[in-house]
Amino acid sequence: MFASLLAGLLVCIALWEVQDHRLLQLWYLTLLISSAVRLTVFWRYRRAKPQGEALLKWEWPYAATLFASSSIWGLGALLIMPPDSMLHQVVLVFLLTGMSGGALAVYAPRRRMMLITIALMLVPVTLWLAFQGTSLSTVMTLGIIAFLITVIRSSKVASTHMHQSFVLALELKDARNRAERIAREDELTGMRNRRAFYEEGEKLSKCRRQKEGLLAMILIDIDHFKKINDTYGHANGDLVLKKVAEVLRETVRCSDICARIGGEEFGVLLRVFKAEDAKKLAQKLCQLIEKSTVPLTGDAASKAISATASFGVSTGNISLDTLFNAADTALYQAKAQGRNQVVCAA
Ligand code: GH3
Ligand code: MG
Ligand code: MG
Repeated sequence: MFASLLAGLLVCIALWEVQDHRLLQLWYLTLLISSAVRLTVFWRYRRAKPQGEALLKWEWPYAATLFASSSIWGLGALLIMPPDSMLHQVVLVFLLTGMSGGALAVYAPRRRMMLITIALMLVPVTLWLAFQGTSLSTVMTLGIIAFLITVIRSSKVASTHMHQSFVLALELKDARNRAERIAREDELTGMRNRRAFYEEGEKLSKCRRQKEGLLAMILIDIDHFKKINDTYGHANGDLVLKKVAEVLRETVRCSDICARIGGEEFGVLLRVFKAEDAKKLAQKLCQLIEKSTVPLTGDAASKAISATASFGVSTGNISLDTLFNAADTALYQAKAQGRNQVVCAA
């Protein structure tokens, strides 16, 4: 757009001696107005930040302003073409062809839009030259036609390559997002895995130290889970894991970090005002897990079972490792004291 304004200025300077000044001023003013309209469209587009399908709505305002300014160049060139000076005619055609060459690179991703833009710029002047009947104008006409043929051929290559590179870039971004998700997500429950638990926990612990309140860790281990597997099969064991994950997800706040950190072990990391809050949450989870039932599949399809879990809770503005070890010791104690209960670290 700015190149178009600059080239327009050069045209006016070049033709100033041989063309009516008012005509040149009028033409340049029209070019300025069309550029201002284009700029407004760009500005509104950037403010709207459209994504996905919404992007397509902007294609026509964009194309319309592009075609308008191309026509101002193409048809305007006929208006301001100096009839008596061959040298100035050549200069104008030269600048016009240069402008169309620029369009080739800029609009390559939308081939049809680009071809229309170039045609609007060059076809009027080519027709005009063809009817002049001088040998130089015939040579120029043939030159522009050769240029147009080259444009049509090379635009296909450019747009195909550009399209392929867009598709590749999107696929790469997609694959990267997928890989990142897989690396941080537990496949069975869809929860965070141990790695994500620690990474996000580290962030939470750093941010916590600067504020009021305590960091709390709740470690959860399903009781006699091996027995559930052995009695009802691995697939049903998986259903129990999913159920516990569901209870955790539905109960904790979305700001709390909840993860499956091992086979039948889960962890919750959260901010609390006092240690009692973490204990209450653990007790609530303990009751909800005990109450929930899991309909079984396979040979045991007619049955529904419920599981219990033991809880170890620790609180404090200490390192994540220290918090984890304290909660783990408390969990061990909960197991030793008979399971299905909450023990808080001293
Ligand atoms: P405790 O009450 O002392 O925790 O006993 P437990 O049987 O729950 O603990 P143990 O560590 O002996 O057994 C854990 C079992 O969890 C063993 C393992 O086969 C099973 N397990 C680990 N990951 C999975 C899984 O993804 N799916 C299923 N179904 N079982 C799993
Ligand atoms: Mg365990
Ligand atoms: Mg267990």
